Order: sequence, then structure tokens, then C-alpha cells
Amino acid sequence: MRRVVITGVHGKIPTTPTPRENIPNGRAGWFTYEDSKDERDTLSLIFKRKLLLDPTLRGKEQDDVVAHERRHETDFLGLANALQRPLDAAYKQGDVDLDLWMKWFDYDVVAKSNAFHIAVGAPTDLNFPPSDPRPWKP
Ligand SMILES: [Zn+2]
Repeated sequence: MRRVVITGVHGKIPTTPTPRENIPNGRAGWFTYEDSKDERDTLSLIFKRKLLLDPTLRGKEQDDVVAHERRHETDFLGLANALQRPLDAAYKQGDVDLDLWMKWFDYDVVAKSNAFHIAVGAPTDLNFPPSDPRPWKP
């Protein structure tokens, strides 16, 4: 049976201590992810999450940075888990252009991040939708 298995989308990951100069834009914390796929009897979509954290942070500053990045992680998990049903449906119909799905997924993640940043007065990132049509309805 053709099915899609999505891994790396449950639970929280530990923070990874990283010098601030190694965190993009010299920020104090950073939530990020990579995706890869494996296609044999099943189509596997594998997410690897990372939460980079400046290890010199202490007290409230550290708590605030971790809480901010956990919000990004929670938003990511919501979007990633929402892929299961439409991906299963699409895969039953035929082959899935997973690269296109991931382009739209990345767009959605940045859109969600930008909405959060606007709400808290943080800077936003440029985000353009992919030129090919979205393969599913979110
Ligand atoms: Zn943020």
C-alpha cells in the first residue's frame, strides 16, 4: 500500500548550545529544520529540527529566547503534521512532487514566522510564494 511516513514531527528537541557568531544574523537563538526524503515501499519525509541557543544566556533573557524559539518550533510542528492527510491523499492518486510540496511548506513556515514577528515587533524575512501552484489546500 502506498503511504507517506513523516518523521521528526513529534515532541520537542533539546537546545543545541552554539556561539552567537554561529547563529544566523548573530541572534541569540534560532529554530531551523532540514527535510529529506526516502522512497522505497513507503514515501518517507524526514525532518531534522535544530534549536540553536547562545550558551552564554542566563536567567530571564535565556527563558525569553527559548520561549520565542519554541513558538517557532510549535508553529513548524503544526504545519508539518498538517501535511500528513493531504500528502497521503495525493500519494494514493499518483506520484508526489515532494520538492514542490516542500517549497510551499517552507513558504508557509516563513509566513507563520513573519506573522508571529509582526505580533511581537520583531523583524520579518522576505518571503515569496513558489511560482508553481500549491499542490494542496492547507
Ligand atoms: Zn523569531
